[in-house]
Amino acid sequence: MIFHGLAKLFLIAICPLFVVTAARATENDALMERVVNSYPAFLAGHEGNTLIWKDGTRMPFDDGKRGKTFETLLNAPSIRDMFYAPYLSGKVTAAPDVNSDPGRVRYEPFFLKMYGDCRKGETARTLVDVVWLPKKWGKKIKMTRINGVAEQLSKVSRELDLLPAKFDNYLIPPAGTVNCRVIEGTKRLSAHGSATAIDIAQQHANYWRWAKPDSKGRYPYQNQIPAEIVAIFEKHGFIWGGRWYHYDTMHFEYRPELLNIGAIPSNVKKQKP
Ligand SMILES: [Zn+2]
Repeated sequence: MIFHGLAKLFLIAICPLFVVTAARATENDALMERVVNSYPAFLAGHEGNTLIWKDGTRMPFDDGKRGKTFETLLNAPSIRDMFYAPYLSGKVTAAPDVNSDPGRVRYEPFFLKMYGDCRKGETARTLVDVVWLPKKWGKKIKMTRINGVAEQLSKVSRELDLLPAKFDNYLIPPAGTVNCRVIEGTKRLSAHGSATAIDIAQQHANYWRWAKPDSKGRYPYQNQIPAEIVAIFEKHGFIWGGRWYHYDTMHFEYRPELLNIGAIPSNVKKQKP
């Protein structure tokens, strides 16, 4: 009887843990699937807690560490941590929750492996021209060809070109793509270093670092970028920095894994492992 009692106690203690762990594994599987589908040129699949690259590299997905502070999420994330906050598309109806910055958490080795390290001159070799607003502006900007990013930006550009004239002020001229630098106030490389990001509308930009926090130390949300522009970027795999508590409203960055649009750029075909 004592054994049965202990066994029962053991099961009661262990089962919730098992359920939680199993739920986490299922959730992680779904997220890994999103990552693999988003970067088919590089990733072959996933197994257990591991992302498998086409060159045989294996990268752990979840480091198992829970309860990270926001600063640790930014400075020492796992790939899984990139999904710590949901990316919600659609018209902005409320300010983002405090520290909800989907996309600002980047597992750097993952992106360096795909796009190269701009500090070693590797990104420069991947750059191609994109004609920005071919009818209305028609000048060339640079973007990486890796993962079809430049091709996706061309689609964005052609669609933005069709918007009514009242949007021109936000789009012409663009405010920069490639820039090998760290993010202001940090040691983390900017997505502009990998040539996967574009800034627009310098005259209409809002950035949390330029804002004054309120009496509780919170940054009041500000944005001037029209939803019509944001929707076109998101449709083609670019997230918007205007969806962050630490907002950077001029910033768009190619992160299809966060949008979960299931879109695979036409020039990169998915292959079996
Ligand atoms: Zn930017």
